[in-house]
Amino acid sequence: MSGTEAETVRTPAGKRYGVNEIFYSLQGEGFWSGTPMVFLRFSGCNLCCPWCDTDFSASQLMTAADILADVTAIAGECRRVCITGGEPSLQLDAPLLATLHEAGYRVHLETNGTHRLPDGIDWITFSPKTDFVEGAAVRIDRADELKLVYTGQNPAPWLAFPADHFFLQPCSGENSIETVAYIVAHPQWRLSLQTHKLLGIR
Ligand code: SF4
Repeated sequence: MSGTEAETVRTPAGKRYGVNEIFYSLQGEGFWSGTPMVFLRFSGCNLCCPWCDTDFSASQLMTAADILADVTAIAGECRRVCITGGEPSLQLDAPLLATLHEAGYRVHLETNGTHRLPDGIDWITFSPKTDFVEGAAVRIDRADELKLVYTGQNPAPWLAFPADHFFLQPCSGENSIETVAYIVAHPQWRLSLQTHKLLGIR
């Protein structure tokens, strides 16, 4: 991106994002499981999944520069930032993405897919919730990985979604045996576990 182009996506002065927390840990789920990343957790979500165990209510208002400063302070040599929530697509925009890219970070996003996304995200994890929330509609048209919480529903229709990798994840770890049985019978899927919870890390 040229300097001129970068200027066009600069965060407007004073714009603030509602941030729940920023911390450094290992990615616990899906394709990048075990990989060090800085997690930027935005506050707020547009859905209300029945089994949601994520506390995303607390919010601190931060500018893109504030966020970058906190990320840089804890990232060390890590160059990956995973933006999650809540639902991060409610807040992530091109200026914040550009701020992180210009500082040398690759940006991963974990989304429920109900809002359109800015271009240029390096890795999109789509975790569809429309099986659980009536009226929720998918508004993204591709992802790098699709990671579905398995509650006994029929996952097969999701294999038509344009993604490179397909993961099934037990619901709150309570139906692991059923999830494994489904995957063994339908090997287009791979198992995703919440390994951070198994290890007792964030
Ligand atoms: S989309 Fe994610 S964060 Fe939002 S309610 Fe559902 S599980 Fe919780």
